[in-house]
Amino acid sequence: MEPEEEMFWRYVAREDMHLQRCRSCERWLAPPGPVCPDCLSRSLEWSAISGDGTVWSYTVYRHSFADHLDARVPYALVLVETAEGPLLMGNLIGADFGPALIGMPVRVEYGAADDLPSYRFVPAARDH
Ligand SMILES: [Zn+2]
Repeated sequence: MEPEEEMFWRYVAREDMHLQRCRSCERWLAPPGPVCPDCLSRSLEWSAISGDGTVWSYTVYRHSFADHLDARVPYALVLVETAEGPLLMGNLIGADFGPALIGMPVRVEYGAADDLPSYRFVPAARDH
């Protein structure tokens, strides 16, 4: 695992979502990396994000492709447009998997998967 990726998961383990941001052009980096893909600056810093956002795109898995995923189907892999702007990928649970997923408000929830720190998205309350 790359050091930047390792750092991302270290924040997740603390139930604290952080992404890298370029100090030169302010672009967010997701997934993390050693260099800004826009301006090639290596001057990056970790900034906290809320984990709140809306579903921007998704794929629903109704069949598992590995034994250890059997109990998890159906689940959706979503690309979430976070409140801060960057797109963050994760699993979505607890929602009906239909066209209404696009634009659905979600929030991040932390937990462990296979004994490793993990996060997923769940539908957010719509009344705020
Ligand atoms: Zn940059």
